Amino acid sequence: MELWMTEFQTQNLGLACRIKETLFSGQSDFQEISVVDTVEFGRMLVLDGVFQTSVFDEYIYHEMIAHVPLNVHPRPVNVLVIGGGDGGCVREVVKNPAVQQVDMVEIDGVVVEVSKKYLPEISSAMIDKHPKLNLRIGDGIKHVQETEGQYDVIIVDCSDPIGPGEGLFTAAFYRDVYTALKPDGLFVQQTESPFYHQPLIRKSYQDVNQLFPITRLYLANIPLYPGGLHCFTIGSKKYDPLKTDVTKPSIQSGKYYNPGIQRSCFILPEFIRELLQKD
Ligand code: SAM
Repeated sequence: MELWMTEFQTQNLGLACRIKETLFSGQSDFQEISVVDTVEFGRMLVLDGVFQTSVFDEYIYHEMIAHVPLNVHPRPVNVLVIGGGDGGCVREVVKNPAVQQVDMVEIDGVVVEVSKKYLPEISSAMIDKHPKLNLRIGDGIKHVQETEGQYDVIIVDCSDPIGPGEGLFTAAFYRDVYTALKPDGLFVQQTESPFYHQPLIRKSYQDVNQLFPITRLYLANIPLYPGGLHCFTIGSKKYDPLKTDVTKPSIQSGKYYNPGIQRSCFILPEFIRELLQKD
């Protein structure tokens, strides 16, 4: 019998994957967690029925959420990652030579343990207890509420704005992120699909823009995510992503990311530019 798993991306649209095997299925204090082995995407982490990451295309999201903001900042020494329980983001962050410490605050310890067991190629920095990595299990919202002027770069590698991730898309959270950053700090958040989450993208952009002197959106093509096009929002106190020197040696190519992408990912199609400009 064929087994399929469908993520309902909107009320009328789903992405269905043929499954070879269910490797893990359980309920944590925060969410329903599964790891399935699929024909097209390989092993995949699923939280509350939403596809989070797959071994097939994870490099795109993780390289783009880590290296783009890190390379906008000239000296990203202290970094905070909120969420990112699969470990792919911190695997990339520790590669940056300027980074000395990355605090990672993930709310769900079960996501971390399951990722270490079933997705070792993604969670390698957590498995190896990388010396730059300081992993804490806790609420990222509370962590930024209690932090002041500490980080050069904050990366919000969150799930959708439902369940434990809901508070990560609010103006109050962005205010706390602003305070947790150093005077020249910047932050990035994954902000979903420009095709299917336009109200959320506009609201996040406007909220960030009210606090930070520089707000920019950038894009990456990610087959697993709704519409295949994903966006990220940067709020920066000082450094403009459009002025990054892409010839600097710290800009190392990955499997998707390279110096050209660092620049071109900020070029927006007209419908997205218009979306951000609307009052
Ligand atoms: N790449 C993924 C995507 O966009 O679908 C997201 C990756 S990661 C698995 C998202 C993580 O954020 C989850 O493990 C979830 O537990 C965590 N998370 C949600 N709310 C959180 C919060 N308030 N504090 C810290 N982590 C949180």
